[in-house]
Amino acid sequence: MNNYEQGIKNIFWTGNSKKKYLFIFVAHPDDFEIGCLGTVLKLQESSVNFSIKLLTFCASNEIRKKEQEASIESLNRLGINIELIMFNYIDTILLESISDIKKDIQKYENKIKALGGDICVITHHCNDRHQDHACINNAVIQVLRNHRVITFRILKYEEEKFVASFYVSLNEHISKNKVAHILKNFPSQHGKNWFRKEVFLSQLRVQGVHANCEFAEVFSIEKMCI
Ligand SMILES: [Zn+2]
Repeated sequence: MNNYEQGIKNIFWTGNSKKKYLFIFVAHPDDFEIGCLGTVLKLQESSVNFSIKLLTFCASNEIRKKEQEASIESLNRLGINIELIMFNYIDTILLESISDIKKDIQKYENKIKALGGDICVITHHCNDRHQDHACINNAVIQVLRNHRVITFRILKYEEEKFVASFYVSLNEHISKNKVAHILKNFPSQHGKNWFRKEVFLSQLRVQGVHANCEFAEVFSIEKMCI
């Protein structure tokens, strides 16, 4: 493992267990892919061994559910080990179900502990103005009290305060693969003004400027427990 891989590994995981997990909690199908797929593709190219448990909460819509499944199947075929768990909550009104969502997360915390490896939790950031994203952030933070929690930003209609803690530089190949994957696997979203190749690539490029590299994903550290 070179210094670069060691650095990225240390950001996401504290210990030296051979079992490393990313537990990713998102509101909608496509949130994981938009938020951090580039970093996952980069980790996959490294010598870091990890697997992902992805919990997607708003999967009541059959079309969107199938899109999420197809996206993960496609990534599994690339050799990325992702277990997908979906819940049938309804988007835009997720907050009404927050007590049930917290119970779901609590159940998974027990499974998380039983796994016994190094764990990093990834979710939406704490100032996200989207009501469903904010709901998942709150539920995760209130239930998972002693885990490393890293959050990502998804561009939306509103400006919002996001405190960048670190950037993961991406090359052009991974950046374009990420965007192509999103556009291919979530056709139901193509009518949205922000769901554009130019938007996704521009965001990665601007973040790359911030990090003095070509392209980058950005994360905020919500909590570190060492
Ligand atoms: Zn979303």
